[in-house]
Amino acid sequence: MSRRRQIYEGKAKILYEGPEPGTIIQYFKDDATAFNAQKKGTINGKGVINNRISEHVFLRLAHIGIPTHFIRRLNMREQLVRQVEIIPLEVVVRNVAAGSLSKRLGIEEGEQLPHTLIEYYLKADELNDPLVAEEHIACFNWAGHEEMQDIASMAIRVNDFMSGMFAAVGIRLVDFKLEFGRLWEDDYARVILADEISPDNCRLWDMVSGEKLDKDRFRRDLGGEEEAYQEVARRLGLLQGEEDTGPGEVLDMSAHRSRLRSSGPPKPKK
Ligand code: C5P
Repeated sequence: MSRRRQIYEGKAKILYEGPEPGTIIQYFKDDATAFNAQKKGTINGKGVINNRISEHVFLRLAHIGIPTHFIRRLNMREQLVRQVEIIPLEVVVRNVAAGSLSKRLGIEEGEQLPHTLIEYYLKADELNDPLVAEEHIACFNWAGHEEMQDIASMAIRVNDFMSGMFAAVGIRLVDFKLEFGRLWEDDYARVILADEISPDNCRLWDMVSGEKLDKDRFRRDLGGEEEAYQEVARRLGLLQGEEDTGPGEVLDMSAHRSRLRSSGPPKPKK
């Protein structure tokens, strides 16, 4: 394999220079971090699953007309994407109270919000990604007025689409985080969806049991994070055609639960 220039290493991904100008290779790691990297660990196979889930979601979003950076998946852990100038905002969309919203405002986790909320956080690790108002975004010119309109309308469309997509497989889309980037064409920049969409940056709850199928399993030391990520991929139909693990094997959360009941905390897999 030819040597590639590494552009950036983040908490969950490495970015390499792509084969053509204006392209980037996103490599998905198994590393997991939480609370601004104060908690670190690995979730075996996470990179492979997130690569597949993110491919699936971005392709489907493209089908409904959302412009995204995704070009194609290259292999188990890598995908080719367009190089963009990342807008320094984390755009969080919430349908149900959870996480930092519940903590900040004292709203019980699980409470359905009267309407969808969009929040903006400044991407700044050294400041712990603070919540910012649109006034701050305009004042400091982190994004322009039209860009913010595009971001908000895309975020709502992504939410509507993903809420339906997950509901169809028995999963409640509680909240998620998006990132957007500028794609420059001559002097004009178009805003497109970037980064990834996976259980690392969504809260996904089983509609019947309320079981968490996302990174909160890692953040809150619940165990079973590998199984949860696999379960999301399995329900989306992304594990078919691969090695047949059979129903109720490692992919089954209820099997995981009964294992936990009978044998205590999960043991590392081979
Ligand atoms: O922690 P909080 O409740 O603000 O998270 C809201 C949503 O945004 C969650 O789905 C979480 O996974 C995601 N998020 C993220 N990256 C961050 C902060 C939050 O993906 N840095």
